Amino acid sequence: MYKTPVEIPSNIETLINPLPSRYLKPDITQFFGENGLSIYRDVYGWLGHNGIDIFAPFGTICVSMADSYLIESISRNTGYGLRVSTFTDLGNNYGFTLTYGHFWYTYIGYRRWIEPGNKIYGRIKKGQKIGRVDSTGNSTGNHLHITLKVWKKNNVGDWNLINIKNGYNGAINPLPYLQDHTMAKLLVDKSTTPPTYHISFPIGSPDELKGLGRNTGLVIPEKADGTIDFEKLAPTGEVKPL
Ligand SMILES: [Zn+2]
Repeated sequence: MYKTPVEIPSNIETLINPLPSRYLKPDITQFFGENGLSIYRDVYGWLGHNGIDIFAPFGTICVSMADSYLIESISRNTGYGLRVSTFTDLGNNYGFTLTYGHFWYTYIGYRRWIEPGNKIYGRIKKGQKIGRVDSTGNSTGNHLHITLKVWKKNNVGDWNLINIKNGYNGAINPLPYLQDHTMAKLLVDKSTTPPTYHISFPIGSPDELKGLGRNTGLVIPEKADGTIDFEKLAPTGEVKPL
């Protein structure tokens, strides 16, 4: 998935669901690394999508996923549209930035980028409202985009973005750190008869797959012991771990 091995601090905290009003369902519409042969390669030079997209209706409240400090809240004519970026110091010379994109408005006002580690814009508490979902910037529908990047403090106290040669300019997959969110996605290829189902599940659990079934109408066959019967699930197609 990455071009080079990535350096990830062991103590990245669990990120809370940024859209708490959304019931747990398979609403991740684009995973990290997807769509490599697209604008991500052609315009940005990335291996694919540099974050995750979560579908939500227009105006859905987004909250901060971590205790952090604001470093930017700005609308520019770029891919993320109206966006908010925050920085969290993990206390071991590592930290991370989160960027939330495509907002309608923010609860924070406009603040131009300051370097991570700078606290002048003030604290953003985990769970604090930061914006409302829209489709501003390079987007085809209402959703929240999240980018996670890791930073490291050097011996004179400056924070530097690391993993910049990983194929995503330092962005890493936020999904493993995201709490309480369905991790599976169903892709239906309607060009085949019967349709072929592809299920991608980076860390999906049986419960999450069963929830996926309830939300899509797809029958998720189970074995006697309650585990998913993958052979019955996709007899004509493929179940593809991401
Ligand atoms: Zn996105």
